[in-house]
Amino acid sequence: MIEDPSIYLHIPSKVDPDMAPPGCASFYVLTPVSDLVCAQHPWNEEVVDGYRQKALATLSALPGLEDLQKNIISESIFTPEDFKAHFNAYRGSTFGLQPTLRQSNHWRPQPKSKRCEGLYFTGSSVHPGAGVPIVIESGRLCALELRRDNPEDSLA
Ligand SMILES: Cc1cc2nc3c(=O)[nH]c(=O)nc-3n(C[C@H](O)[C@H](O)[C@H](O)COP(=O)(O)OP(=O)(O)OC[C@H]3O[C@@H](n4cnc5c(N)ncnc54)[C@H](O)[C@@H]3O)c2cc1C
Repeated sequence: MIEDPSIYLHIPSKVDPDMAPPGCASFYVLTPVSDLVCAQHPWNEEVVDGYRQKALATLSALPGLEDLQKNIISESIFTPEDFKAHFNAYRGSTFGLQPTLRQSNHWRPQPKSKRCEGLYFTGSSVHPGAGVPIVIESGRLCALELRRDNPEDSLA
């Protein structure tokens, strides 16, 4: 378990009041953790609660959030095991292939397979990488490759 994990906090109800009932707020808290192979520990109650407590300790130190824990009405927690079970995420890795140097830019898997004719890839584990706008670009690059190889099928 990570000793001092990072925390990402987003409060959607701050920009869209419909994201929470009147007088309430909705919080989305992300703690980046290792995938199911890199971190060899079970996602049991003890580990989940450990991360939950660390997140709450960090958030409760922020001005205005001192009483956060006792004001929680409802919460859902997703672990890498849940991402694997619900979305078939490889090794429970929600962001796909790690963006290390040797897995970035031209080293990252490209939209067109070099080994298998007619096989194309798109999504966060291929070039250019993870994140919604970047994955949309991956789809565009994949479509370009498909059009180049199949000009007669082009919609243009
Ligand atoms: C918690 C979290 C927060 C994020 N926050 C942001 C953010 O704020 N901004 C941002 O830009 N990006 C964010 N991302 C990243 C972004 O969501 C992903 O990079 C992007 O959704 C990846 O798109 P994708 O199409 O590759 O995969 P996904 O969006 O994961 O889509 C893959 C789909 O394929 C389905 N699938 C899997 N296996 C099969 C199968 N065998 N047959 C049929 N279907 C299958 C899955 O169920 C899933 O619906 C976040 C990701 C996570 C997990």
